[in-house]
This record gives sequence, structure tokens and C-alpha cells, in this order.
Amino acid sequence: MTAAIYTARSGWNTVLLDPMGGGGLASTTDMIYNYPGFPSGVSGQELMDRMTKQAKEFGAKISYDDVLSVTRLSDVFRIKSTDGEHLAKVVIYAAGTTPRRLNVPGEERLEGKGISYCATCDGPLFRGKKVAVVGGGDSALTEADFLARFASEVVVIHRRDQFRASLASANRCKGNPKVKFLLSSTVEEIRGEDMVESLVVLDHMSETTQEVPVTGLFLYVGSEPNAAPIQELVDLSSGGFVKTNEDMTTKTPGLMVAGDLRDKSLRQVATAVGDGATAAWSAERYLLGH
Ligand code: NAP
Repeated sequence: MTAAIYTARSGWNTVLLDPMGGGGLASTTDMIYNYPGFPSGVSGQELMDRMTKQAKEFGAKISYDDVLSVTRLSDVFRIKSTDGEHLAKVVIYAAGTTPRRLNVPGEERLEGKGISYCATCDGPLFRGKKVAVVGGGDSALTEADFLARFASEVVVIHRRDQFRASLASANRCKGNPKVKFLLSSTVEEIRGEDMVESLVVLDHMSETTQEVPVTGLFLYVGSEPNAAPIQELVDLSSGGFVKTNEDMTTKTPGLMVAGDLRDKSLRQVATAVGDGATAAWSAERYLLGH
């Protein structure tokens, strides 16, 4: 969104290709408390809606289009998408990541039937019900805290006894009386006829299993980089993230990569915004030089 705001404002013909019309994963986050300028926090949806509006006001066109492949022709890129084909002098690729699955019995069958990857979207459906959250990162703990607004109880199940999340997220969540923790524990199976009814949870300390009744299960076990459409044009890290230079350029001239898809240490809206601005600046330098 930031790259589109910058390139459109500079007068470059800018098309934003996104099947959801922009906003990304951040727009599914309930509240963002660490984005500068919002001392009381801001809803992810509102922040991303504002960025989309800003990009449009500067003239960026939004195309509800899923990118399938990007190839380099002589001096342009060909972008094949679900909607057809686009040609562009520069591509700023910021496709982020997709939520990871647990890969346990019952998961595929009950997806969308009590299993969710988006608390903001589905949390209100579980008013007065007991739900579980799997994961120990910022997403798991932030969303567990959010789910406690609706659910009667939220059980956080994490495979270690230490959280990956920041201290701020962990403390906020630990202070919530509706949130309980099953640490050093993993979900081995998701049970239920037509909807989620219970989880088989293995405690790795006592090496015992228990069946935990829940009606909802929210999975926040990290994410996979969406690099496939550009993988031939870039260098990837061992985890599949894209290696870029400090100015967001890649080994392919004219292709910049920004945001969570990059191989970097901190994936936040604040860092994505910085990446987007830098990528747009590099794009402009490239265009002026060609
Ligand atoms: P993450 O930081 O990668 O955390 C994933 C969690 O899932 C880890 O605790 C990991 O356990 C666990 N996990 C991974 N695979 C698993 C499996 N197969 N079974 C069980 N548990 C598994 O992902 P995230 O929480 O989605 O965060 C992604 C990025 O977004 C991070 O950089 C985060 O800081 C950022 N973020 C920031 C905010 C915020 O600041 N407001 C909010 C949300 C996300 P281990 O710890 O044992 O590896």
C-alpha cells in the first residue's frame, strides 16, 4: 500500500494487483498498538482502509487480481494473473505470507467448521463459547486477548514453555483472566462430527494426552512466504523468503520486493511501510534511469 501511495503520488501509472483489493494480513488484525501515531491503537482494518484510500486518491488503480507468474521480457515484466495479463516496466512485489497449517488429523475436514485463521473475522461467532488458540507468537497472543472479548474461555496451546511473542503481547495476554495456557503441549488431533468439538492435546512434560472440549480453534502457527510467482527471478533464503538489497532491489533489475515476504528480522506494519517507501524510491530511480 505504501509503495502504491508513493509511486502514484510521483505520477507513475500504478496498478495494485490484489485479490482482496489491498490491505493484506494486517487488515485481519483486530488492534495494532505499535504503529506510530495511534496512541490508543488502531484497528488493522481501519489502518489498511485508510492506506487504500490514500493510494486511490493519488491515482493508483486497484485490480482484484491474483498474480500467477511474473516473467522478465526484454525491458518489461509480464505479469500473468487470474484476470489475464499485465505489462509493467517495474514490479514491486509485496505478496506477504500465507498462514501455516498444523497438518494433524481432522484439520482439513473441519476447516471453516470451527477452525479459523482469522479471529477478527470469526471471533464474534464464538460468543459465550470456549475456544483454543495454537501458537506462541505475537499473532497467537494478540488474537487470544481479542477472542476473550467474546469467548467464555480461551485456551492458548503452545509447543514450548517460552513465548516467541514480544513481552508486551505476552504480558497483555497473561493478564487476561479469561485466557488459560497449556504450554509444552501440541494438538495431535481435531475431533468433531460436522463442527469442531474437541482437541486431543499432548503434554510433552508429563507425556500424557487429554481431550479438551472446544467449539472453535484459531491457528496462529506462523506463515509461509508467497514467493512462488517470482521465485525464478530472485534469491531465496532457506525458509523461502526473498533476499533483497537494502534498497529493496533484487538480483533482477526492475523487480523490488517489500514487506513480510522479504528475508528480514522484524515483520510489522511499521517495517513494511518503510520497505514500501524504499521500494518505490528504488523503482523511481530505475524508471528514470531507463
Ligand atoms: P511467528 O512469530 O512465526 O510464531 C509462530 C508460532 O507458532 C511460534 O510460537 C511457533 O512455535 C509456533 N509454531 C510454528 N509451527 C508450529 C507447529 N507446527 N505446531 C505448533 N506450533 C507451531 O508467527 P506470528 O505470530 O504469526 O507472527 C509473524 C510476524 O508478525 C512476527 O514477526 C510478529 O512479530 C509479527 N506480528 C506482530 C504483531 C504486533 O506486533 N502487533 C502482531 C502479529 C504479528 P515456536 O515459538 O516454538 O517456534
